[in-house]
Amino acid sequence: MSEKTSKLYAIVHGKCAHCRRGNIFTGSMYGFNIQHTKEICSHCAQRIEIEPGYFYAAMYVSYAMNVIEMLTVSFITYLFVGSLDDNTFWTYLISIFAGCFILYPFNYRYSRMILLHVLSPNIKYKPYYDNP
Ligand SMILES: [Zn+2]
Repeated sequence: MSEKTSKLYAIVHGKCAHCRRGNIFTGSMYGFNIQHTKEICSHCAQRIEIEPGYFYAAMYVSYAMNVIEMLTVSFITYLFVGSLDDNTFWTYLISIFAGCFILYPFNYRYSRMILLHVLSPNIKYKPYYDNP
């Protein structure tokens, strides 16, 4: 018996929801090759985008992630410059936009991972694919 892959590992490392082996994304999260989502898993050959437009739902996930991140960035900004007023307005604005910009690849990747692994009851992990 080979070692089975944990769900958490699969999510963190961007693995297929069916086999937890194949990579879902091409390119790297922060690299010169912009990451893309593959259509078919190279390991188990299951479709990753199970139906057309499936990943539109990931926008809602990434929206929720964005809200949390903006609140976090606002709070960190608050710790550095104090409460929001006329003097700190631009600091807040720039910090929040910079935060969104920097986290965009992260959100792209993990909104899709959360959608595939956590929010899609139709997509089942198939342990028999989870072999090298
Ligand atoms: Zn797969």
